[in-house]
Amino acid sequence: MDKKYNAAKAGANPGKYLERCAAALDQALDEVPAYRSWRQFDRGKGAHIDERYAGLPALTKRELNAFSPAAFIPPGRSLEEGLKSGEIELVETSGTTEDKVANIWYQPWWNASELASWALNAHAARVTTGDQREAILANPLNVGFRSELGDLPMEKRRLARFLFLNDLADPLAWTDSYCDRMLKEMDLFMPVTLEANPSLLSRLCRYVLRTGKRAYQPPLIVLTYEFPSLIHRRHLAAVFDTPIMSSYGTTESGYVFIECEHGRFHQNVDYCRVDFLPFRDDCGGPSLGKLLVTTFDNPWRSLIRFDVGDLGRLEPKPCSCGRKAGMTLALIEGRTANLTITPEGRPVTQAQVDRGLSTISRIDDYELRQTDESSYQLRIVGDTGFDSSSAEQAREVLREIFGSNARISVEKTRDLAPGPSGKFQLVKALFPLNPASFLDPRFRPPVPEDSAAGGGP
Ligand SMILES: [Zn+2]
Repeated sequence: MDKKYNAAKAGANPGKYLERCAAALDQALDEVPAYRSWRQFDRGKGAHIDERYAGLPALTKRELNAFSPAAFIPPGRSLEEGLKSGEIELVETSGTTEDKVANIWYQPWWNASELASWALNAHAARVTTGDQREAILANPLNVGFRSELGDLPMEKRRLARFLFLNDLADPLAWTDSYCDRMLKEMDLFMPVTLEANPSLLSRLCRYVLRTGKRAYQPPLIVLTYEFPSLIHRRHLAAVFDTPIMSSYGTTESGYVFIECEHGRFHQNVDYCRVDFLPFRDDCGGPSLGKLLVTTFDNPWRSLIRFDVGDLGRLEPKPCSCGRKAGMTLALIEGRTANLTITPEGRPVTQAQVDRGLSTISRIDDYELRQTDESSYQLRIVGDTGFDSSSAEQAREVLREIFGSNARISVEKTRDLAPGPSGKFQLVKALFPLNPASFLDPRFRPPVPEDSAAGGGP
């Protein structure tokens, strides 16, 4: 989806946070058709705004799909006219059929959300202007230009201020000369920012480390598209001595959290509200929980308590950077779709698995699949020194995480491929889990009776 890479700019319009939360909610409940069934849950305009939000359902992707995009447009605008005039476009997010959402794309709001997010990291605030040269290393299935042979010349992979380095959907098809092309193009293009899918950039970094070549050092690296593994970050840190920042958002919600220069994640309060639904104490709560996002002032879409499908871990202490506005997370813990469970049924996040495996320095990449309630298959891409004792170490790490009843198999593999969406899924259960069951029941959102989807998050 290329729309976010257009180069237009728009100014931020910050206001008082709670007033904006109230304005977004009142507009949705009073005037936006998709939220009609939510009115019964509103505790009323006399209640505290956080209480009002807490009593409401969550908006899932299934419900976004069940209504037409027009049902989410605030009053006074027409989908047909917006499309006709070119002010908006309809774009579909990548993903599996169930995840696909038709989005009304309004570029000025997206750009404003992005600009505001950069203030949350000192390095980004210093180097980004909104029109800086940016190289993008992503899967062309997600963004950019695709070629079966990976032979598109550089000028065919340019768009506005962007250069897309990769045109191959299959990273296993990267040859040494293909990696050299990416390195050479970075030298020529001299991007100010390199926006990267972390597993792909890790792959390029491993090539650099293996061959002793040199990589152009952009002033800032921004990780997005995927959960950034600590193992991948280790490869990046070995090649780049420039700041690395993780940016977290979704096509639906814009930029939601940015990793600051001290490694904490700060909420983009000028553009969104975040509701945190804690897990039960015996499931990792209350500091671990689900994130629901409400967007502010998008004239083309009212989005309230949207279930972005990700988990966060609250940071209890104030961050050393001094930013205090909104929610601060110690970490994005991964997607609910990447949760696994212990044989006793307790949830384990992708970040927990990743923290454990990242302590083994010989692992270059990995893929963990939970095949049933107590069986776990780990496939590892190891460096040249990876041997049976490294494999045993990995087994031990997983036993510590999943417990003594876990049946764990570890095998070495030459390489790992991304999923059909173009993104790598490092951790996944191969059977359905019910994340709502892990939530503290006091925070479990109600489900409207005439809900389009008939189910909560
Ligand atoms: Zn901070």
